[in-house]
Amino acid sequence: MMNSLRLVRSTHAGVGDVDVRMMQRAILLARSAALAGEVPIAAVIYRGDEVIAEAANTREREADPTGHAEIVAIREAGRKLGEWRLEGCSMAVTLEPCPMCAGAAVNARIAKLVYGATDPKAGACETLYKIPGDERLNHRCEMHGGVLSNQCVELLRAFFRERRAEQKRAKEAARAADAARDTRSSLPTDSSTNTTRRSA
Ligand SMILES: [Zn+2]
Repeated sequence: MMNSLRLVRSTHAGVGDVDVRMMQRAILLARSAALAGEVPIAAVIYRGDEVIAEAANTREREADPTGHAEIVAIREAGRKLGEWRLEGCSMAVTLEPCPMCAGAAVNARIAKLVYGATDPKAGACETLYKIPGDERLNHRCEMHGGVLSNQCVELLRAFFRERRAEQKRAKEAARAADAARDTRSSLPTDSSTNTTRRSA
């Protein structure tokens, strides 16, 4: 039932309107996370039409290495349902879950995992590992990758493009400030203090 070919197909057999709507919701949430300086990844946990929990990455804000959207959403869903087994729940996430999050999805007994972009660096559903489909574990999630993947990929691309541009601007500003300081310090002054620290 779980075959890897199906994961990359664009027709998405097994993905319903609700799943696509929840992915759209996750994309909007991810977009707002980017504005707060978080890598734009978000997850929505739902049962039928009902949203149980949703979250974006909180890693930067909380300085939390486990602050991935999926973990935050899974914890919140458990609290809301008063039950660690998220029986019958699906999770839509904009990026293929990493080993930690894929493991958490298995532990939470997530029934269906729908994700957007694949992650060549940490993807643990089809790319590097296939944790939620591993027969040796005591639970398996139905998995569907590539849902609205173009939008999910573009979100991440735009974020990192902007971040690189920002870093470049900061570097240029620092260089300009250095140059201005050098010019000032090379002018003859009547003071011998504070101008000898820079030798470059
Ligand atoms: Zn993760």
